[in-house]
Amino acid sequence: MTDYYGQAIVIPMFPVNLIRHRDPELFFAVVEPVGVDMDSACTGLERVLSRFQYALYTTRVIEELKGVEGYLKNESEFYDERLENRMNEGDRFRRDTGRDEALVLLALDNVKRVRKSKDPESPTVPRQAYLFRSLKRLFSHEQRLAIFRRDQGICQVKFKCQDRKCEWDAWEADHAKPWSKGGKTIVANGQVACILCNSAKKDRESNSVAGRP
Ligand SMILES: [Zn+2]
Repeated sequence: MTDYYGQAIVIPMFPVNLIRHRDPELFFAVVEPVGVDMDSACTGLERVLSRFQYALYTTRVIEELKGVEGYLKNESEFYDERLENRMNEGDRFRRDTGRDEALVLLALDNVKRVRKSKDPESPTVPRQAYLFRSLKRLFSHEQRLAIFRRDQGICQVKFKCQDRKCEWDAWEADHAKPWSKGGKTIVANGQVACILCNSAKKDRESNSVAGRP
């Protein structure tokens, strides 16, 4: 964008003057739809980012998973098989750990290592960890089916209703023990919530989260 005299106007995307860290960091998490050439995507992203004079560190979650005992051994030489196996292994890792964001936490661990290598006194990254944690907490389709069948479609939250019977296309799978308090994304911790009750519960939760120190 240029002004009347043809001079470039730079509009900051965020309030740069509020950055207090002497060595600011940016995190990008790139999710790859099946079949995308991740190497080209990353190369393009790195090219753009290098203009801003950030040092760049790329972490491939799949490489991290290879470092975990018992995962991704003997990968196939065939692209399709390798891809499918990687997706399955990612699912297995999430299942084994009982955490939907398990792969993200693996990547975060790498961020910590990079920081330590630059500065042994580097603090941990609790705030980032928290942000990452809020990325994914959805029940899978299979989990939703199991929850709906078990609760017979009846709202278990009852903030705003009395045993409302929900239609399949109008209910939410809710974390009985809130996800923000460590409740897992597993069927045993899932319950049927009608739309009204779920949004009422979310409001309460987000208020309590916002009040955290
Ligand atoms: Zn309800």
